Amino acid sequence: MPGTLLALHAHPDDESSKGACTVAKYVAQGTRAVLVTATGGEAGDILNPEMDSPEVAANLAEVRAAELADAAEIIGYNDIVMLGYRDSGMPGSDANEHPSAFCRQPYDDVLERLVGVVRRERPDVVLGYDAHEFYPHPDHLRVHELSMALATAAADENRYPDSGDPWQIQKLYAPVFTLERITVLHNAMLESVGESPFEMWLDRLDGIEEPSRKLTSVDVTGLVDVGRDALRAHRTQVDPDGFWFAVPTDVVEAVYPWEDFELLHSSVGWNEGESDLFAGVV
Ligand SMILES: [Zn+2]
Repeated sequence: MPGTLLALHAHPDDESSKGACTVAKYVAQGTRAVLVTATGGEAGDILNPEMDSPEVAANLAEVRAAELADAAEIIGYNDIVMLGYRDSGMPGSDANEHPSAFCRQPYDDVLERLVGVVRRERPDVVLGYDAHEFYPHPDHLRVHELSMALATAAADENRYPDSGDPWQIQKLYAPVFTLERITVLHNAMLESVGESPFEMWLDRLDGIEEPSRKLTSVDVTGLVDVGRDALRAHRTQVDPDGFWFAVPTDVVEAVYPWEDFELLHSSVGWNEGESDLFAGVV
């Protein structure tokens, strides 16, 4: 540290719901942070009744770009790279059939563009996505596939020689919601207010075990509100009275003041119990 961190996300707002407090923590310590957002989020529903108007719906891409800029500033990102692909929507929707949809672009072309961004920005640590089995949005699945290929491709001088000098990403992680986190927050809500916003999640996850994976948990005490403020900046996408804000900040910080990241790749090893995404980075 300080070093450079690059976060790859599918849509505007994903950077605020996944790992935002951790990025804010590193930026505050002098790390340079670059946000890469694949799509404009054009297929998103307007989930905040206050923002649901025909004007907003007709200009959703512009509105969401402005929201993203606000959120990125709150988190502290130094740069935003918009890849400019179209939101693929869910399978079966019109957005999903659109020829410009992110999931319909040739995989190799997209990987080459990302490799170019990585070789230019030279991040030590990259955030991507894990397999995302609980939220199979086509754009998230595609970011997962790209994440798994990115470190090897960017470091290989024989691949995409016209897209910059090879660059070794030292660590690549995915922000994850562990079952443990959901369960701890769920129980804390039942104890403190008698009801929990995670009821439905836990029903859906019934019978599923915590996958075995290499986890790094970053302490974000004092920063939970930064992530929430960034999420609120996505005015069309989040209901200010909704799910994301249901657990009071002080409850989160009292019982689970961490964000969890699954290690997807490392060129510098990994040790059980690591609490720093830059651990071992040289
Ligand atoms: Zn998304």
